[in-house]
Amino acid sequence: MNAPVPALSSPRPSRTRIALRGERPRGAYDLTLPEIETRVIELGFPAYRARQIWGWAYRQLVAEYAGMTNIPAALRDALAPATPLALLEPVRTLTADDGETIKTLYRTGDGQMLETVLMLYPDRATVCVSCQVGCAVGCAFCATGLMGLARNLSAGEMVAQVVGAAREARQRGRELTNIVMMGMGEPLQNYAETMKFIGIVHDPDGLDIGARRITVSTSGIVPKIDALAEEPLQLNLAVSLHAPGDELRSQLVPINRRYPIAMLMAAIDTYIEKTGRRVSFEYALMRGINDSEEIAHDLAALLRGRLCHVNIIPLNPVDVLPYERPDPAGIERFASILRAAGIPTTVRYSRGLDIDAACGQLRAKELSAAS
Ligand code: SAH
Ligand code: SF4
Repeated sequence: MNAPVPALSSPRPSRTRIALRGERPRGAYDLTLPEIETRVIELGFPAYRARQIWGWAYRQLVAEYAGMTNIPAALRDALAPATPLALLEPVRTLTADDGETIKTLYRTGDGQMLETVLMLYPDRATVCVSCQVGCAVGCAFCATGLMGLARNLSAGEMVAQVVGAAREARQRGRELTNIVMMGMGEPLQNYAETMKFIGIVHDPDGLDIGARRITVSTSGIVPKIDALAEEPLQLNLAVSLHAPGDELRSQLVPINRRYPIAMLMAAIDTYIEKTGRRVSFEYALMRGINDSEEIAHDLAALLRGRLCHVNIIPLNPVDVLPYERPDPAGIERFASILRAAGIPTTVRYSRGLDIDAACGQLRAKELSAAS
């Protein structure tokens, strides 16, 4: 039997107000190509200028309108005030894993902090994007959850993170290939902006990130999983499960009270049926919490027969939270029970542990240092 989840010493911050759409700073990265066309035509310029601007922004990755040398200065000057290119200001960049992990802390136009991680692998370059400042779900082991939700990010603020990562990759002779929505926030609680963002980065004349190279990770917002199944783009879906039973999952991932496991699994089955896509289950392994042999067998029983894959993420401990990572033997024991039951399972150690690359951790440190 696993020990009960330890109680938190201090209550979680109450949910802060979500800024209204109009209050968020917006820029050129918030616009689709047709929206830029409309803007360009309204300003009295021919529509083809929009496609040129798109190429400068997403193929050349220029940081300022001034770099768009074949665009008339009058158009650049007219666009810049209302639709700036630079939406996020880099505050700090840290590298780890022999320079293969690059983490950037950004400040938004209204002074919010968020973080983005670029991970270079031999065969791909993946950016981990934040979709909210903080998160309302409040998972027990997550640094982002501790903050509550400050506000949703706009599509453009997500695009800006990807463009920043694409520039970082290119400086190192690499091209960005993959996007994972595994930074701060719950993408399916910021659905419209997340889908707009995905449309922009997917555009074949722009960043051209294929839908199969984009992963949306969710704590299990069932109605939005249903919505995702109806989208024309065939994205990868990752579901943060962390426990095979409702009692424990509700303690770890509080949204489970609203969308319990049976409901979640039904939505996932529909998703698999409609898309034919394999679903990944994320499982943050915590010593004495969700790592027993009994739980591993329960997890195998829950997932058996489904088109899925399990990613075990040995916990990244968060300073102020009481959860710990199991030792390597415990991690391997858990994984081998799943594998023996026929569930494809990978153990994924997080990148950049020494730079607090787990979501929300760097921002949390920056804020506590500043206060
Ligand atoms: N909100 C979404 C996506 C962002 S979190 C979600 O929860 O799926 C990305 C992944 O990191 C999730 O699987 C999340 O549960 C996991 N995670 C959060 N904090 C962690 C920690 N301290 N150690 C290991 N994994 C963690
Ligand atoms: Fe939010 Fe995901 Fe963190 Fe849970 S794990 S609090 S859903 S960011």
